Amino acid sequence: MKQYDYIIAGSGLFAGVFAYAARQHGKTCLVLEKRDHIGGNIYCEDVEGIHVHKYGAHIFHTSNKKVWQFVNSLAEFNRYTNSPVANFKGEMYNMPFNMNTFSRMWGVSTPAQAKAVIDEQRKAVSGEPKNLEEQAISLVGTDIYEKLIKGYTEKQWGKDCKDLPSFIIKRLPVRYTYDNNYFNDLYQGIPIGGYNVLIDKLFEGCDIRTGVDYLADRETWRSMGEKVVYTGMLDAYFDCCYGELEYRSLRFETELLDEENHQGVAVVNYTDRETPYTRVIEHKHFEFGTQPKTVITREYPADWTTGMEPYYPVNDAKNQELFEKYRALATKEENVIFGGRLAEYKYYDMDKVIESVMNAAAKEFGDA
Ligand code: UDP
Repeated sequence: MKQYDYIIAGSGLFAGVFAYAARQHGKTCLVLEKRDHIGGNIYCEDVEGIHVHKYGAHIFHTSNKKVWQFVNSLAEFNRYTNSPVANFKGEMYNMPFNMNTFSRMWGVSTPAQAKAVIDEQRKAVSGEPKNLEEQAISLVGTDIYEKLIKGYTEKQWGKDCKDLPSFIIKRLPVRYTYDNNYFNDLYQGIPIGGYNVLIDKLFEGCDIRTGVDYLADRETWRSMGEKVVYTGMLDAYFDCCYGELEYRSLRFETELLDEENHQGVAVVNYTDRETPYTRVIEHKHFEFGTQPKTVITREYPADWTTGMEPYYPVNDAKNQELFEKYRALATKEENVIFGGRLAEYKYYDMDKVIESVMNAAAKEFGDA
């Protein structure tokens, strides 16, 4: 008998939901976290009573009722609806692309008028879109592509839109209604009291060690548990034997301001090429805060190098191929479960991570 049923490397959402399921089945878990706190990238820091999304804005949205009921059983969610605004050289446009955006862009007022403009502009692309640029133009035309997509996307990914896969832009809805909701999902909100409420519930009953890198001493940790749940980078687990997977990183610049309301909305995207950051987050608006001060964060995209936070997988053909080689190795690892944005190398939203754990847990514990 080993000391623990599960050694869980990492403490983000995949790790947390797995730990919770394991505890529900009476299993013991040891959680090992590199950082000095648990919660992965949904962790919030309290500044003047404001929950600061320290690793980037996280807005929970899902159409999966089971996932929604699960998170609501752990924390109460508020009615926050993400409606970001894009700032292009001082011109303010509603996001995602909808009638408010089209009206501001072209002075049109009906869906038919907007469609006529977009149909004319999308003629610039013939045949099946081959890359993000062509996909974007065929969705919303050249004006919106130039003002609201090209600069933002090239900053975000550090690549020309012609060299990016088209699926990235398909994350964004295009609507011919006056609806500024960024997501199409049925359910949406932010946990009241911040994400840490959720994190604490997920890891209740687990032994936790922070400041510990599983890989640095893997033999020791491995020997302490029946099984391992690994949520870190997949290439690193195999000592990058086939080469490194590519990621995109971010740098955050956070400021406490002595004013009550800085930008009037939680998220403003800066879509021109020259402004070095992609967005400014004003955290209090996620929870309708009324504090006398406010905290803002400028988000700068950054090239990723070893040691930096790997925020986004780069799911182009080259990296996907490399990932498949690592995945083949992973399937041969006995008694190790790999999961989450890093171990699955997927541009996962939070609800999709939870779905992925639900599948893993169903296999592991024989229920869903
Ligand atoms: N995007 C854009 N303009 C915007 C916001 C998003 O062109 O104002 C594009 C960009 O290519 C980005 C993609 O849409 O990478 C997905 O955006 P999302 O907001 O889903 O990115 P995340 O919140 O995951 O960083």
